[in-house]
Amino acid sequence: MAKSTSRTNHRILLKSRPKAEPEPGNFELVEEPIPEPGDGQALVRAVYLSLDPYMRGRMRDVKSYVPPTQIGEVMPGAVVGEVMASRDPSVSVGDIVEAYHGWQEYGVTEAKRLRKVDPRLAPISTALGVLGMPGMTAYFGLLEVGQPKAGETVVVSAASGAVGGVVGQIAKIKGCRAIGIAGGKAKCDYVRDELGFDACIDYKAEDLDAALKAACPDGIDVYFDNVGGKTLDAVLKRINLRARIVICGMISEYNLTGPDLAPRPTRALLVNRARMQGVLIFDHIERFPEALKALGEWVRSGKIKYRESVAEGLENAPAAFIGLLRGENFGKQLVKVGEAP
Ligand code: NDP
Repeated sequence: MAKSTSRTNHRILLKSRPKAEPEPGNFELVEEPIPEPGDGQALVRAVYLSLDPYMRGRMRDVKSYVPPTQIGEVMPGAVVGEVMASRDPSVSVGDIVEAYHGWQEYGVTEAKRLRKVDPRLAPISTALGVLGMPGMTAYFGLLEVGQPKAGETVVVSAASGAVGGVVGQIAKIKGCRAIGIAGGKAKCDYVRDELGFDACIDYKAEDLDAALKAACPDGIDVYFDNVGGKTLDAVLKRINLRARIVICGMISEYNLTGPDLAPRPTRALLVNRARMQGVLIFDHIERFPEALKALGEWVRSGKIKYRESVAEGLENAPAAFIGLLRGENFGKQLVKVGEAP
């Protein structure tokens, strides 16, 4: 069964690999016919496209936890949208789903890889943010790897962002002191006054060492690291005995052209018998329902708030993505690709 669609599909391809910061010329907008689903597949029309820092890694030709995007391939990414045609009994035309079909209006996906989204529970855009991959990364990264205990001090960087904002609010729910690190007064005001963190450090305006000392008089028990680089180094200098450092991302290093050779203060890990451990959201897929239930209840009861930056039109995705890597987004970065059904 199928619903009528426009005739062409706009797609954004990887045209060339960036050398440092991505540029508009690294992307190419093309028009192609809308694909037809085969057996066991569904055609999805995107309403929102998610822009995420990991996409910078896919533009690089290096080995990682998934293969890089090849030149001429569609840029990777998750969308939330409407099923337009289905050749699998598990999804029906009109269903709202999350699909990993990349930077394009229409995509064909194996039906078993689609995640159904209930539009009655929350705005469908949240399936890409607080009730999607970033929210669940915050949930498992903090609770499983960070293991915060009531009364402890939890510090999180990129604190106004899709992952960081949720981390600090869960830390508060668990009875911890939550300290954010973010770029600029507006983001820090939001993190403290709207999200309810105890304090937020503006790393662009303040001396990070002095500000961490003032905000964390009892030291740091859990650090949820989204940025790496100098911020991680400054935090390591203030960690407590048996601190847990959750390595979630290192966005300050994604556009570097060479290794950062400065000596790192990792001796702090030895002295404090601290643990530094990476988190990868894919390891927790089987427990997504548990995280979604908890996050959904916290969002509905107002204990977790979120914010979104929405760029209009697929053609503006490259500029919005370049902006995300510069910190121009405020909360979860989305692109509105099509009208909601
Ligand atoms: P955000 O919504 O937080 O957006 C990115 C933010 O990073 C920017 O707004 C900016 O905030 C900050 N930033 C950019 N450049 C720098 C810099 N040079 N130094 C310090 N901060 C910078 O993105 P997400 O919440 O989606 O992702 C946050 C992190 O989590 C990323 O590192 C991402 O790769 C990682 N991640 C990891 C996952 C996993 O499974 N391990 C899953 C999902 C995300 P500001 O203005 O405050 O500097």
